[in-house]
Amino acid sequence: MTDARLQTVSNFENSFPPGAMRKDFQKIRMKFLEGERELSKSELADNEITRYQVTQFYQNQIRNSGYYEQLKYIVEPSLKEFYSPGELDTSGEGDNTVVTGLQHKYAQTGLLLTTDRCASYCRYCFRKRIVGKDSEEVAPNFYNIAEYIKQHPEMNNVLLSGGDPFVLRTEQLNRMMDHLLPIPHLTSIRFGTKTIAFYPPRFADPELPALFQRIINAGKTPVIVTHFDHLGEISAESERNIRKLRAIGVQFLNQSVLLGKVNDNAEILAKTFAKLHELGVRPYYLFQGRPVKGASHFQVPLHRGIKIVRDINARLSGIQKTFKFIMSHYTGKIEILDIDDNNSIYFRYHQNKDAEKIGKIFSRQYVADSYWLDDLLED
Ligand code: SF4
Repeated sequence: MTDARLQTVSNFENSFPPGAMRKDFQKIRMKFLEGERELSKSELADNEITRYQVTQFYQNQIRNSGYYEQLKYIVEPSLKEFYSPGELDTSGEGDNTVVTGLQHKYAQTGLLLTTDRCASYCRYCFRKRIVGKDSEEVAPNFYNIAEYIKQHPEMNNVLLSGGDPFVLRTEQLNRMMDHLLPIPHLTSIRFGTKTIAFYPPRFADPELPALFQRIINAGKTPVIVTHFDHLGEISAESERNIRKLRAIGVQFLNQSVLLGKVNDNAEILAKTFAKLHELGVRPYYLFQGRPVKGASHFQVPLHRGIKIVRDINARLSGIQKTFKFIMSHYTGKIEILDIDDNNSIYFRYHQNKDAEKIGKIFSRQYVADSYWLDDLLED
């Protein structure tokens, strides 16, 4: 990616009104969905309000999509962010950090925090504690990370996350590969990204095919995990770039988050997954929203989520319904299976630190308006 093109993305970095970042006590005017408010920088910081940043591309896409009234909630700040209860690290990322910037929660997978920046910032982000900030959790170098991975032959894949690795220049991604590709037991290199929705021209970078070819030549599979939550986010330019990269051997999966007011609608999610399937992007996870401080107002009650998932599956063919409805809990990745007539909700561990628990089915008694495993009663 050329510097000029990177600039196109980072032009949006100073999106707080002029002067917002100069002095803590200085009042700034900020637009919320509920109207404009005057706030100080310290009020924003104390309440963990993520900076406002949206690419012009995504603004145009959602305005022209016919779904603006739903999609605006993804990127436009709300005053609810000041009051939504929760934690900043709901899945124990800090506890699973083994080297700065590397998490090792599940035996086979290493999760790398490559950057604290994204092309735009999602108001529901579960990494609010990191994104748009100068976070000390981001990998300062890849030498120490590679040394750890070399000592852990059970780790066969890494997920480059953040923030979003595709706000980094291709040259920076190549430098990470210098450390990762020589490790023989890594068989796939995964990139988690929403830039394919926020700024798809990034994926037309003429230097990217060579990066993916390098991964393939090293005997590893390059995988891009896109993050489309809604049909209206899939632009013609996203489609073009996905098709081009698939043609050179990049595998695509998609993860979505079930979000109140945005996509808590079986018809929309079924259309989204059908469209992704058509593009060769395999729907993989539909995440239950996490109880994140400042973002828990996006959560959908579990019983509604289960009903929505049933209705999505009723609309899709067998080869389209490849997703799992997942709660990324402190104890592991838990598939949410179903609720029975006695109000028992059934779950299964899809991933767990303790391999013996993987695949185990268990149940909890449903409690009205519950959103998370911890809200439920032991059966
Ligand atoms: S792109 Fe991903 S990491 Fe960045 S703000 Fe959105 S959800 Fe968070």
